[in-house]
Amino acid sequence: MIASDLRNGVERLGDMIAEASTIVPFTGAGISTECGIPDFRSPGGLWTRNRPIPFDEFVASPDARDEAWRRRFAMEPTFAAARPGRGHRALASLYRAGKIPAIVTQNIDNLHQISGVAADHVVELHGNTTYARCIGCGHAYDLVWVKQRFDEIGGAPDCTVCDEPVKTATISFGQAMPEDAMRRATELARHCDLFLAIGSSLVVWPAAGFPMLAKNCGAKLVIINNEATEQDDIADLVIHYDIGEALGPFVGN
Ligand SMILES: [Zn+2]
Repeated sequence: MIASDLRNGVERLGDMIAEASTIVPFTGAGISTECGIPDFRSPGGLWTRNRPIPFDEFVASPDARDEAWRRRFAMEPTFAAARPGRGHRALASLYRAGKIPAIVTQNIDNLHQISGVAADHVVELHGNTTYARCIGCGHAYDLVWVKQRFDEIGGAPDCTVCDEPVKTATISFGQAMPEDAMRRATELARHCDLFLAIGSSLVVWPAAGFPMLAKNCGAKLVIINNEATEQDDIADLVIHYDIGEALGPFVGN
């Protein structure tokens, strides 16, 4: 059922939130655009101008690693300046109220954590770009260290523990999905009574599967996205309006 206007959508969403005891949000790029984080996949987005570097290329080629890190450093002012938007803050309010056990996200921007959700309660399907990890032993590095090493040696640094390459803690194209995050996201979708798909076009696997899974396990499904999604026809409520406008009324309860 598509909300006839924003006010109608917010009212019905409010009723569904009030009735629900366990809400699982699933968030995509659309929740962070008002925070200044570009949607990398959108037409004109970063990935249409800069071909993403696949994981096997990153592993095989020092030049690819240097290029990947140069791009990441160029994005740092954008990520460092980003603050949670109304969507993040509304979900953080519902989390504090005990309605949301954890948030599943496709985003890599750390904004759910900054909004006050414990890192353990943010299930990141595509990892996190605000720190780095060794691809061999998994040792974590902060980006300041990576930048300093890069400048000292003139290229992408290797792990000080095992000598393997250090990469942002994101999931690249061609890299396996994180098993633990996938398992947790599946469990959350199966055990909620309200599933909120927010700011995702719900096309790319595995995002496409979670709304249907939640529905099949008895949850109500709400989709909030600027544009139509592939899953609109199975949703109990669809809000095709700005995410900040739709979730703003739920900030701060
Ligand atoms: Zn290592």
